[in-house]
Amino acid sequence: MLDQMRATTVVAQKQSFADRVTRTSASTRRPSAPSITARLKKHVTDGSKRRSRSIHRGGDMATIIEIRDAKKRYQLGKDNHVDALRGVSLSIRRGEMAAIMGPSGSGKSTVMHMLGCLDTPDSGTMVLNGRRVDNLRDRELTKIRSQEIGFIFQGFNLIPTLSALDNVALAAEYAGASHGDAVESAKGLLELVGLADRAGHMPSELSGGQQQRVAIARALVNSPAIVLGDEPTGDLDTATSEEIMDVMREINMKTGTTFVLVTHNPEVAEACDRTIRMRDGLVEDDGLSTEVGFDFGTRRRASAHALAYA
Ligand code: ADP
Repeated sequence: MLDQMRATTVVAQKQSFADRVTRTSASTRRPSAPSITARLKKHVTDGSKRRSRSIHRGGDMATIIEIRDAKKRYQLGKDNHVDALRGVSLSIRRGEMAAIMGPSGSGKSTVMHMLGCLDTPDSGTMVLNGRRVDNLRDRELTKIRSQEIGFIFQGFNLIPTLSALDNVALAAEYAGASHGDAVESAKGLLELVGLADRAGHMPSELSGGQQQRVAIARALVNSPAIVLGDEPTGDLDTATSEEIMDVMREINMKTGTTFVLVTHNPEVAEACDRTIRMRDGLVEDDGLSTEVGFDFGTRRRASAHALAYA
């Protein structure tokens, strides 16, 4: 199973978001990992503790990722360059679901690469879970990525020759779980995403929505602090998109896992707590300016407008 994954990672050539994650996520192992039941329970407990603390504090959630004045320039030959990020500042709060929208070329992918610790800014700072990460070396970033971040892609990116169960379990084994723990974790998560009865199916025997559920389970298997989605509903029809958003929302509510989703779909953004809008390498609107309060208990936003007309 591991060999198959290695072969898959070796043939990956493109520099897409999905490819970069696939090729780099395999290199860090942890000596052992607790079972999914224990981890999920811990997550749920931590999540509800966090939520009740936040409600107690009037909806002010602790920040999980903070980017300050990040700049990124791509040099194209000697005299030409692109300023992909021109001073991006952004905070993601623990337990929220945020959407990132913006026209093509506005810098969304570049920001996602940074949030996913796949890249660092040329200047500016980035703090993940209280730790500076913008100045770390590749090896340390890889370790953080495998432990703290889960990824979901538009095209699901499941390994076609492995069952749903093995696709999920493999991600846990790569992070250092024993085979037994990994399988137990995978079973628990497939149940969580409503696919317990499809665990033995190959990806080709699953619908697009079911494949994306497997991918969500895989993203969660190492109990990441944050899950990043790159157009996670882009290949799905409207009804299935809604279904997948419901699954992610439920997981977000149950486990307190933070989600950040790049999307072109306004309905996906609408289903999130907040929409960050990018344009020309800058955050045009961080989605917080009109928000005067957010209750993570009921997940209701109170906009200045709504309050004014209440
Ligand atoms: P978006 O995801 O919003 O479409 P990107 O973050 O991919 O935007 O790109 C922002 C800008 O940076 C674009 O002008 C793009 O052409 C440029 N860019 C992105 N990646 C590279 C790269 N590896 N080399 C050169 N230019 C790049």
